Amino acid sequence: MQKIEHLGIAVDDLEAANELFSKLLGKEHYKVEEVDSEKVATSFFQIGETKIELLEATGEESAIHKFIEKRGKGIHHIAFGVDDIYAEMKRLESEGFILLNETPKEGADNKLVCFLHPKTTGGVLVEICQEKN
Ligand code: ZN
Repeated sequence: MQKIEHLGIAVDDLEAANELFSKLLGKEHYKVEEVDSEKVATSFFQIGETKIELLEATGEESAIHKFIEKRGKGIHHIAFGVDDIYAEMKRLESEGFILLNETPKEGADNKLVCFLHPKTTGGVLVEICQEKN
């Protein structure tokens, strides 16, 4: 793993959260993007080398909707940047981590992503992501 690429934060109102975080961080978000397949609307703030990804559910079947129902809004996942997501998925699986998707999925912000089951990562939802070429 190369670095913490971003932190994902579940929000219930993306516009209000954008305002709050721009006040908090002293800068505006640099992009808003909907990921239809995941039923989420996202926005991104750049903080040094790392980003903050705000996630709002756009449908009831969204994982973000379920997360907020169960645990409330707040930190949702940590995403680590990797150079080769296929190699990293293989390595993690061989170490006993459970992958939530068998093949990389299209994520927001031009990424291929894979999530690890929190029951194998000490309760933390972990994403690994690779920049798409
Ligand atoms: Zn993410």
